[in-house]
Amino acid sequence: MTEDRLAQLTAGHWRALNAIPEPALAEHRTAEYIEGHLDRLGLSPCRRGTAVRADIDGVCPGRTVAVRADMDGLWHGGDGERRLCHSCGHDAHMAVALALAEMLVTTPLPAGRLRLIFQPAEETAQGAVQVAGYGWLDDVHCLLGMHLRPADELAGGCFSPAVHHGATRQFVAEITGQPAHAARPHLGVSAVDAGVLVVQAINSLRFPPALAWSVKCTAFNSPATANIIPDRAVLSFDARAQHNRLIEQIAEKAEAAAAMAARAGGAELVWRCQSALPAAEYDDQCVAALSAAIVAQAGESALHPPIVTPGGDDFHFCRQLCPHLKTAFLGIGCDLRPGLHHPSMTFDLAALPAAVRVLAGAARILGGEKQQ
Ligand SMILES: [Zn+2]
Ligand SMILES: [Zn+2]
Repeated sequence: MTEDRLAQLTAGHWRALNAIPEPALAEHRTAEYIEGHLDRLGLSPCRRGTAVRADIDGVCPGRTVAVRADMDGLWHGGDGERRLCHSCGHDAHMAVALALAEMLVTTPLPAGRLRLIFQPAEETAQGAVQVAGYGWLDDVHCLLGMHLRPADELAGGCFSPAVHHGATRQFVAEITGQPAHAARPHLGVSAVDAGVLVVQAINSLRFPPALAWSVKCTAFNSPATANIIPDRAVLSFDARAQHNRLIEQIAEKAEAAAAMAARAGGAELVWRCQSALPAAEYDDQCVAALSAAIVAQAGESALHPPIVTPGGDDFHFCRQLCPHLKTAFLGIGCDLRPGLHHPSMTFDLAALPAAVRVLAGAARILGGEKQQ
């Protein structure tokens, strides 16, 4: 496929998808667009909800390599001015995957099979679990993800073969005390005072400094009446760690510390995990294949070392749910500013054709490897 055609394809798909941003699990027009395009390529796509899947066979049998593109946009703005946009660049990921489909229909892989998985609801961390539940990963050997990277993390035109997302957890603590007249605080139990103890107990937790981690209070709400001892407080906590084992330890110790602190304040506490994302665990062979493809398609100078980022991606549920999967995740440098999830996010479309070539190159390497 010529460079001009590839540039035209990626830009065309991006424009079309950028114009129809949709929220998690409501990517209906997006799924229709993808399905329609894959259909026109003769690929008989399969659709479940808003997820779309298509297979492209290589010339000879081999491994199945899947490329996952996420589909959802994000809400931005305050009251009355809420609008959806693709501020996380998922429109670009879909454009790359659609152009990749056309490229491999025109020039099939020498061996193996490419599976394209268009996954809804990345932002709400629901989509990857859903897609795994459809059984779409059961016969996949290697799963490749991709994401645009901010300019301060990866220079335009450069690629990284591994974006090491951290694990994240969000917790909610509901504290119940005893109401009383503010003039008689000894007759009540202040949920706010107990909440302060909980925050302090969690801030006192320590984990090995050589590992990246954090745990902090991100919200503290209590009904406010100046002359009543508050009997209710709801606190939110956000925890991050670069390793799955460490996030488990943080979760365990934070819950224990919160329970003890609330008890010390005479209050009752209900602790629950509101959301969780696992950290990246990549396969050396898949990372090496992406590295080799980056060098072959974009040159030695375009190869950036693995990136460590505290951000999360629900992609990593795939490996947790399907432990046989070998994964890697392509970081795409595209001069993205001012940052992901910013309503005015922009990036350079010229980075997308090379991303298509890199993923095709990696699929050629991984698809042709002897089955194990
Ligand atoms: Zn995002
Ligand atoms: Zn994203």
